[in-house]
Amino acid sequence: MHINENPLKDVKLFVLDMDGSVYLGDRPIEGAFDFIRRVEADPLRDYIFFTNNASRVPSVYVEKLGKMGLNVGEEKIVTAGDVTAHYLKEHYHGKRVYLNGTALLKENWKSRGIELVEDDPDVAVQSFDTSLTYDKLDRICRYVRKGVPFLATHMDINCPTEGGFMPDCGAMCALITSSTGVEPKYLGKPCRETVDMLEAVTGIEARDMAFVGDRIYTDVATGVKHGAKGFLVLTGESTMQTVEQSEVRPTAVFESLGEMAEFL
Ligand SMILES: [Mg+2]
Repeated sequence: MHINENPLKDVKLFVLDMDGSVYLGDRPIEGAFDFIRRVEADPLRDYIFFTNNASRVPSVYVEKLGKMGLNVGEEKIVTAGDVTAHYLKEHYHGKRVYLNGTALLKENWKSRGIELVEDDPDVAVQSFDTSLTYDKLDRICRYVRKGVPFLATHMDINCPTEGGFMPDCGAMCALITSSTGVEPKYLGKPCRETVDMLEAVTGIEARDMAFVGDRIYTDVATGVKHGAKGFLVLTGESTMQTVEQSEVRPTAVFESLGEMAEFL
C-alpha cells in the first residue's frame, strides 16, 4: 500500500470475493476473519460475500464458512445465480425459462417462483452446470438458434480447484456461441447488473461500495468500471506483475484482507 489517504475511509459496504480472498480451498486466509469481525463491529459499515460460482447456492457457503469458524446467515452471501434470478424477475417476469444449471440452482430458482421448462422457453440460460450433457447443450443451441434470448450467469472460463482448473460457464458458452453464432448476455462479475442488484438488495449506492478480491478482471473491474471502488488482494491469483500488465486500475492493492483490517 503506497498511498497517503485511507482508501477505506468512505466505504459503507465491502463486497468480498471468497476463494483466494477469504479462504483457499478449505483453509481460511490469515487475517481475513479478523477483517470481517472488525467490519461487523463498526456500526457504519457492512459486508457481503459475492461469488460468481453459480453451481452452488448460499446455504452451501454458509456451511463451508461455518466449518472454518465463521458463522454467517444466508443473506450475507450472493452468487451470480442470484444476480441472474434478479435480472430474470426484472426483465422476463413470469416468462418460461430454460436453464442449464445444477440441481441446487434449479431448486433455488423454483423456490423464487421462476418457471423452469424443458420445451418452448421464452429465455435460455447457461450456468456453471457440472451436470451438463450433450442433450442439454443440443437443447440450448436449438433455442438460441431460433432466436430465444440467451443469458449466462457469469463469464469465467475456468474454475480453480485444488486439483487444477475445471471448465466453467464461459467455456460452456463458447461452445454454444461456436454452434449458433450468438453471444450470451453475461451477468455476475464484472457486469453492471451485479452492482445494480447489490444496490437494490442492500440500499447502498455504488459509490459507497468497495469490491474486494484476488482477480483484477472480475472482482476489481466490477467496482472500478461501475462507480464503486475496487480493491485487489494478493492472496490468490494476482501478483504485482498482474497489476502492471492490467488495464484495470485497482483503487488500492493490499497484501491481504488482514492488511486491509489495519485501515479500519
Ligand atoms: Mg477469487
